Amino acid sequence: MNNTNNRNNTANTNHTKNIDLRDLTRAQLSELLLSIDLPPERAPQIFSQLQRPGLHNIEQLELKRDIREHLGAHVRLSRLRIKEVESSADGTRKYILRLEDGLLIESVLIPGHGRYTLCLSSQAGCAMGCRFCLTAGLGFRRNLRPAEITGQVLAVMEDMLRRKMGNGRPRELINNLVFMGMGEPLANYDHLLTALHILMDQQGLEFTRRRITISTCGLIPALKRLPGAVKVNLAVSLHAADNDLRDQLMPINRRHPLDDLLAACRAYPLPRKGIILFAYLMLKGINDQPAAARALSKKLTGIPCRVNLLPFNESRELPYKRPDKETINEFKAILQQAGYTTIIRDSRGGDISAACGQLALRESKTKA
Ligand code: SF4
Repeated sequence: MNNTNNRNNTANTNHTKNIDLRDLTRAQLSELLLSIDLPPERAPQIFSQLQRPGLHNIEQLELKRDIREHLGAHVRLSRLRIKEVESSADGTRKYILRLEDGLLIESVLIPGHGRYTLCLSSQAGCAMGCRFCLTAGLGFRRNLRPAEITGQVLAVMEDMLRRKMGNGRPRELINNLVFMGMGEPLANYDHLLTALHILMDQQGLEFTRRRITISTCGLIPALKRLPGAVKVNLAVSLHAADNDLRDQLMPINRRHPLDDLLAACRAYPLPRKGIILFAYLMLKGINDQPAAARALSKKLTGIPCRVNLLPFNESRELPYKRPDKETINEFKAILQQAGYTTIIRDSRGGDISAACGQLALRESKTKA
């Protein structure tokens, strides 16, 4: 190799060394290989190995030694480490995961009828400031990179395999992914999209559109862009049927008012028989009155949807209370009479602070 080539190689290495292989889609990986003088047709083989739980470093890649070493000299591979796992009496498992810079995030594995749903975080902390949510109290730290989103899936799968859960086939361990953990997914739009492309890739874990749900508090511009970029299920957090109350509960409503949000939902392109899932947190004496149910049913007119009523999980840090069963049932009956499929969905893992709105990393205050 002549001097010029050497210089080019060194410059190339410096340029790419910070690239984390797990941040890349298969197409991006192919481009990267080309840029560091490796055959791009290796991309599918490398990509599928990167999406295997238990692969922690480049040396573990099944590749010819010279290719592996060349790759290792140019790029790196990140990994999320499990700091702690808490188990709930109902089988829910909350994973506290450490990012490379020491920040902690949480993912929650929820069992049900022989199936597993994994609730993922999209940001460290959250900037949205919803009044009923403990994550909001952490403030916003930063967006998660694609590798930190997909890494949650791999870390939890690795733990499941270690515990001999499932049939040993990683692809069949987790049935559904829901982005309802820490952070607002659509506020981390670009990284979310990349992570979705990685998770849905047929050479990787191959989560189909029906197995992934993105939940948003109502970032309308990103909501409008989403269906053109990726097809997944959509959940929208409403929690109020009028602007005044929603302004108080969810500051995002001052920027993107309820009627604009519902107009965007009405225009959202759904597949045949597709629906939007509306989440409605029930807060005693705040939004649980029959009049609120009637107002909600009017607001949702024309949107193919299901309403999930979420009785609030009380915590000492927040002033809200859970309505009694009768009130919740009456609310549900009004929506059902208006023709809406309505489900009362009690959050899981309340005893380990893993339920909706409870992800607040209490442990991080004592710093691991
Ligand atoms: S409910 Fe969601 S969007 Fe609102 S503050 Fe909590 S994590 Fe953020």
